[in-house]
Amino acid sequence: MKIKMSLLDNAYDYLHNSLYHYHLATHEDYPDDYKRFWKFSIVSIVQSAELMFKEVLKRENEFLIYENIDKPKNTVSVSTAIHRLKNIVKVDIDDRDEIVIRRAIELRNLITHFELDLDIIELSTIYTVIFEFLHSFHFRFLGEELHEYIHQEYWEEEGCLIEQFRSEFILYNGINVRKNYPIQIAESQLFPFFKIEGIEHKRVKYGKEPRFTGFNQICPGCAVKQGYYHVFYCDDEICPKCGGQAITCSCEVYKAFYEDDE
Ligand SMILES: [Zn+2]
Ligand SMILES: [Zn+2]
Repeated sequence: MKIKMSLLDNAYDYLHNSLYHYHLATHEDYPDDYKRFWKFSIVSIVQSAELMFKEVLKRENEFLIYENIDKPKNTVSVSTAIHRLKNIVKVDIDDRDEIVIRRAIELRNLITHFELDLDIIELSTIYTVIFEFLHSFHFRFLGEELHEYIHQEYWEEEGCLIEQFRSEFILYNGINVRKNYPIQIAESQLFPFFKIEGIEHKRVKYGKEPRFTGFNQICPGCAVKQGYYHVFYCDDEICPKCGGQAITCSCEVYKAFYEDDE
């Protein structure tokens, strides 16, 4: 017996698999040990995103999903899919979303191939942002509400994720911030490293600076709580390499973000 599945059926299966593991990893009734299921929820949501991207490519032209259009055999990698979506199909994926998707892909690759310490706050942030992105991507480019394709048994998780995205990411630490600002805070949590001259240096979280006084619970420069990464370009972030001010020291910590590493 053979099973034939469309790209989209497959995408929804991975999404359900992801929500199932998300449920196991986050539900308070389950033991702490279940936090390990986070890895499957991330791997599957990235897989689901990849399949949705391919479906949009395929609707444009069936050959666009192949790495080599003259030899339609292997399908494209997720990076190539994003590249084609932007450059051929002219799908507008904003830079912010693209950064988050690329970080999730990177994480998926790390999870699949290496031993890894995962930060639950980081995973939760990535997951919420990707889930919300897929919701909007599905509506904009596949023409229907993603909700219509989510099994009823996962509506609670879906509702929580959307709720979390809208609430947590708007009123932030009781401080009045620009509307997209909480997203910048969330986004910054996705980048634990600065790449300086090709070498990754672990960023210093607010409150972990060697000369930290403990005086402020919230960073005066960017409003993150202790234990979180500063928003990019915060005056108060120190450089992980030289200990100077990250925005001004000669290590050029932000330079690598503007270099294409493909
Ligand atoms: Zn800061
Ligand atoms: Zn430096």
